[in-house]
Amino acid sequence: MDIFRLDGKRALVTGASGGLGLHFAWVLARQGADVRLAARRMAELEQAVDAIRGAGLKAEAVALDVTDPASVEAAFAGWAPGIVVNNAGIARSGAALTLDDADWQAVVDTNLTGVFRIAQAAARAMKGAGHGGAIVNIASILGHRVAGGVAAYAAAKAGVVQLTAALALEWARHGIRVNALSPGYIETDINRDFFATEAGEALIRRIPQRRLGHPQDLDGALLLLASDAGRYITGVSLPVDGGHLISSL
Ligand code: NAD
Repeated sequence: MDIFRLDGKRALVTGASGGLGLHFAWVLARQGADVRLAARRMAELEQAVDAIRGAGLKAEAVALDVTDPASVEAAFAGWAPGIVVNNAGIARSGAALTLDDADWQAVVDTNLTGVFRIAQAAARAMKGAGHGGAIVNIASILGHRVAGGVAAYAAAKAGVVQLTAALALEWARHGIRVNALSPGYIETDINRDFFATEAGEALIRRIPQRRLGHPQDLDGALLLLASDAGRYITGVSLPVDGGHLISSL
């Protein structure tokens, strides 16, 4: 449907060198957006941009480290997006009793502070250009419920859920919508081996739909929140998880 089209929109996707970020960049480009893929690894980004352009779509690459304020500023210099997908994230697992201060800091700095840095830079650029926009923060079902061994990650993602609502409240007056997408367990290259183990299969049995998500399962929610189809939606965190959050206690 036309309300999901993104023709003429400039979009930025962080952490777009691989995984879900690269997938999101393709989804936005296929809908007509001109997509700026941002991440630390320029070689991977250039390859991805070549592939997207090779499909007749619009893309460019920019170096970005969300933990470095100067790098964030440079990624928005003289440029204002209409759509931002705040996807960059890291995971460190381990018992909270032995969690390193450095690991805690790294997760919170990337997954929560990094999301704020990008959202603030994006909103300033949008306001400066005199138009609004849509910011989609990639949270997680671990921002809504907990599991063992992921205290820093879960705390940072819960922070993203609340940050999303707080920014949406402040920026609605500027025509900027801020929402979060909270994926459940999505099968990607980095977790495929785990989900083939007994523990992984047991986890899948606890998902009401009895299957892992695929990156494509997120497309509808991403486009709803990023496009004009979601023009009256702001401040929400939308789980896309096969019912994992409503699994029986
Ligand atoms: P991934 O590790 O494949 O991708 C993460 C991306 O973020 C990589 O491209 C990485 O280079 C980038 N990144 C990390 N630190 C960065 C930094 N400082 N600056 C810029 N880029 C940085 O993981 P993924 O599974 O694709 O996850 C993407 C997002 O989705 C993350 O926020 C993650 O927490 C979230 N998520 C994933 C799942 C899942 O099941 N895969 C579930 C819920 C939420």
